[in-house]
Amino acid sequence: MSRFSRRATLVLLPLVLAATSQATTQAATQARGPTSGPDEVIDAKLARQFERYALARDFLIQGARDGSGAISRGQWELLITLPENDGFSAAEREALAARQHAAIEAARSEARERSALSLDAVREAAEVDAFCKDLPKGGMLHIHPSGTLDAETVTLLLEKVNPVFERRALLERVEDAPMSDAKQMLAFLEPYGPAVRYENLAPEDQAKARALFFWPPGTTVPQIGFGMVATLRDDSEFNEIVLRAFFARAQAHRVRYVEMAKSLKPNRPTLEALDRIDEIADEYDIVARFNVGLSRVNKERKNLDKVESWIEARDPGPVVGVDLYGREASAPNLDAGQRIYAELLDARELGRTRLRTTSHAAGLGEADNPRDAIVMGVERIGHGVTLRQDPVALEYARRRRTPIETNLTSNVQLNYVDSLSSHPFLDYLRLGLRVSLSTDDEGMLGTNISRECSLAVGSFDLEYAELRRMVENSIETSFADEALKARLTRQVADDLAAFEQRWSRFARP
Ligand SMILES: [Zn+2]
Repeated sequence: MSRFSRRATLVLLPLVLAATSQATTQAATQARGPTSGPDEVIDAKLARQFERYALARDFLIQGARDGSGAISRGQWELLITLPENDGFSAAEREALAARQHAAIEAARSEARERSALSLDAVREAAEVDAFCKDLPKGGMLHIHPSGTLDAETVTLLLEKVNPVFERRALLERVEDAPMSDAKQMLAFLEPYGPAVRYENLAPEDQAKARALFFWPPGTTVPQIGFGMVATLRDDSEFNEIVLRAFFARAQAHRVRYVEMAKSLKPNRPTLEALDRIDEIADEYDIVARFNVGLSRVNKERKNLDKVESWIEARDPGPVVGVDLYGREASAPNLDAGQRIYAELLDARELGRTRLRTTSHAAGLGEADNPRDAIVMGVERIGHGVTLRQDPVALEYARRRRTPIETNLTSNVQLNYVDSLSSHPFLDYLRLGLRVSLSTDDEGMLGTNISRECSLAVGSFDLEYAELRRMVENSIETSFADEALKARLTRQVADDLAAFEQRWSRFARP
């Protein structure tokens, strides 16, 4: 690749790829010989597929280095797809999926053997909630601060800020939710005219106003909630109030570390504000770190400028990574993320930054979003629910032990999965992907990390060793620096040992 300019490579690409593939196919056929079984054929194809993935990633990084533009979906597919005569047949994909299924079953039995405690016994004793509340959680790697407001905090801030409710402005913020739902939720404002202050609402309407901050089960009207949170930001103590409430809750649920995605400008006031948040967290015995949140619907240039200035920031302080979020349907990972992540990976290779990479990639819109993010080199994936649809990409994630930030309540509420029981997190975990639990917008969603644990234990045949593994993953796959990670790892190991003592009545016989 390095002998050609990227532009020339793109032109020559079909020829280059055809030549390499023919050569590798021939070599593979010769090496296999006539006696190779279906497993060997699949493994050889996987090896060639993963070479393609690595080539595609290098190609993007080279593009970041020489400043050439983004590549199209067609070019990307050309880079990563094996030639027709060497591609996976439907039968081979099925065989691969069956192999993964067998690995999942084997991992489950093995996890049972390794478990210090019996979750079956905890379930039979109807103690799941108490058990989960007491479980040391390690870290939460997928948190949006503005989605953490619980009912108490919302009431406190509404009374303090007394914001104006403008029906039309709120409706304008609603994007992908059904407009009829949004109109119905805002109908109570109509009698008050175009704008009304919270204190002037009748008590029953104040209750309806408070409800706007939360995700009503069965509907998706989140933009109202986010719009309302923006009106409460008038309060100079907003961050302090919201984050104190969040950290207090996290501490009560035995959390040690939190990573928050937040839109962050690379300047001194931002860093001072973040240091202040980390100080507050410290009062609750929690370490707070931040990922620069980039909305995928922003202009690419805007996101790139931000990433570049964060790369140039000599000391990013408590900022540890970059996260791409927002509506996936209209901005797939390939389009919205390729240059951002290539830029970051390139800067990392050159030792210009230590910022790490994560991306929301559930597969809403394009089912290949999680695959594309992983192939691009994104280190951690938020949600990742559609990854299971592609056994080849799943196998790739399996071999890379890709970390997955799982948010069960959020995924169910936003219809990422048909039902809780069809959520793939446990299959991923059993395949060796480094899954950890988090809460996404826990206030808006009416959940907390203990409740997420209860859902995992109560609705799946999870084993204790697997629950423990998720807690360990939440530190191991965090973007904390090595010294902090080592300290947190020791702390969480001690927390878990004491926990297993406290719950020894459920020790496995
Ligand atoms: Zn999220």
